[in-house]
Amino acid sequence: MGELQGKVAVVTGSTSGIGREIALCLAATGCRIFLNGIDGPEIGDRVGEEMISAGAPAVAINHQDLLQTGAAEDLLADVDCQFGALDILINNAGVQHVAPIESFSDLAWDRIIELNLSAPFRLIKHALPRMRKNRWGRIINIASVHGIVASTRKSAYVAAKHGLVGLTKTVALETAADPVTCNAICPGYVHTALIETQIEAHAESEGLSLEAAIQSFLGKKQPSGGFVASADIGAMAAFLCSKAGDQVTGSVFTMDGGWTAQ
Ligand code: NAD
Repeated sequence: MGELQGKVAVVTGSTSGIGREIALCLAATGCRIFLNGIDGPEIGDRVGEEMISAGAPAVAINHQDLLQTGAAEDLLADVDCQFGALDILINNAGVQHVAPIESFSDLAWDRIIELNLSAPFRLIKHALPRMRKNRWGRIINIASVHGIVASTRKSAYVAAKHGLVGLTKTVALETAADPVTCNAICPGYVHTALIETQIEAHAESEGLSLEAAIQSFLGKKQPSGGFVASADIGAMAAFLCSKAGDQVTGSVFTMDGGWTAQ
């Protein structure tokens, strides 16, 4: 039996992309997996089956829209109801919107700040008493290179991700004397739905094929010239949840092909 066998892992935004791969990695360590996402029941059921195939002893799926008032409390009440415990919280759900600041809509700003920053705050706030009671907990916030550096036309996303990195450090200090850790992972470009529209827009504006647009897109920021693999982010999350991560807290891990080294 592995050290994480039977632990309950809540992964927000885990019905696709990075969250799905993190959940799969934790499933492979024997965690019970609590999935969340707004992609609909068919996708949720399929991803749930993938978790069981990967090794999860149990899986639950919650379609809570984290933009709704009271969503964090409702989601954690469902975790209590389904599993009666909460050991690992991965704040992963996030959205992007790209526009110059003068034309950045208030609605897009509010949605990004709410989902990428306020939802993690609320989930951590309500998860912590449960973790302290269990005398064990792991919190991992999926931030971004945009939690460390900025890019043009991403004001809300950059503000939210910088905020999430700051929140990570504050939570780490407030839990330092508890057996609870809080860390952030900051990926560079990962090939998921979240950046697909940006690649398509780049291809159109530059008159490039999709393949050429990807190379030009990566070339502008990510010196490795390759995407970060979602599964590698999952492996990093599994490491942070392991015994070896006991004293790792308040840390900010870039996985960005050299982006922030420049
Ligand atoms: P994705 O679009 O593939 O997946 C997003 C997930 O969030 C989906 O499961 C979706 O259902 C869920 N979601 C969206 N809105 C929601 C809501 N209102 N309530 C609940 N769930 C909601 O995106 P991804 O690329 O896998 O991104 C995951 C995280 O990684 C995000 O926080 C993103 O900012 C971060 N990130 C992504 C990249 C990248 O290049 N893709 C780079 C750095 C950081």
